[in-house]
Amino acid sequence: MAWGAEKSPEPRLPLSKKRNGSRYLGVCLGALMIAGAMTSAACGQTAREAVAPLPKPVLPAELASAEPDDDLDAAVEAAAEEETASATAAPPSVGWVLPVDHGIRADKAGQGQFLAPRYHGKHNGVDLLAPIGTPVLAACAGEAIQGVLGGYGRVVKLVCPLPADWGKGYLSLFYSHLSKQLLTTDVYTRVELGQELGAVGKSGNASGASVMPHLHLELIVHPTERAAKDETHSGRDQSDNQAAGALVAQIEERCLAPAGVELSAGMRRHRRLDPYVVLSCMGAKKPALTPANGALRGASTPWHALYTARESNPDITLLPTP
Ligand SMILES: [Zn+2]
Repeated sequence: MAWGAEKSPEPRLPLSKKRNGSRYLGVCLGALMIAGAMTSAACGQTAREAVAPLPKPVLPAELASAEPDDDLDAAVEAAAEEETASATAAPPSVGWVLPVDHGIRADKAGQGQFLAPRYHGKHNGVDLLAPIGTPVLAACAGEAIQGVLGGYGRVVKLVCPLPADWGKGYLSLFYSHLSKQLLTTDVYTRVELGQELGAVGKSGNASGASVMPHLHLELIVHPTERAAKDETHSGRDQSDNQAAGALVAQIEERCLAPAGVELSAGMRRHRRLDPYVVLSCMGAKKPALTPANGALRGASTPWHALYTARESNPDITLLPTP
């Protein structure tokens, strides 16, 4: 792989058979962690709005005079059902991945937006500029695994089901160049939304002095949990799948078109999607953009330079705030 400015060659995935290759990450990363080795070839705001007190049903006069009790009962029942539905509505199940926002990496070594030019083609994720040590957070509840993977450095991979109203499918989120990992096992383990998974760093091919610390984040969607867990995020694999197309269609219809969002470069590279667009559309609220300090100052592109929206400010949120 090569994340553009991230200069070292793409980590070689094992030459395992293609059909089994996807098991590589889960098995191999664990093995690597155990060995303590690093090799280039190895392998929402959840608080619902308070439910307002149930308003007294108001009935049309003719109904009230006809069979008041029955109609009143029916109205109360309907309102109660509505309240129950509201009270049981699932809270947002997707969150942002960092507690601060310093924009998209733009340093002497390169640009970090999704689909930015790379010598191997295009950038497969987004590079979120942040100081070393900034906690990285689980964007959803699911299962995660950590490891060390060549040019990606220390990585965590998180697999979550799509939020309930988004149909069937699973997200594979890939956090890389970490300085620290907090999962303690070498197999997939349960994590909760917002759980701290590790910390931003410069591991792997982000170690060069001209590369400012950042979180390289990728998102791939698959139709099944097995396929998502088997996903290796190999840059050499640019295969496509129908789940990606279906999700893009939903995002365009539900978020991009209504909010008048325009993307400078698009949101899809085969099965890879822009994590910022997907997570935002599903309800993740990123913090408002603030300048970074020290060496990171001025090393980012603000979101509004890459994403424009008629109804919102992408430096705060890509989508309108209700
Ligand atoms: Zn990157």
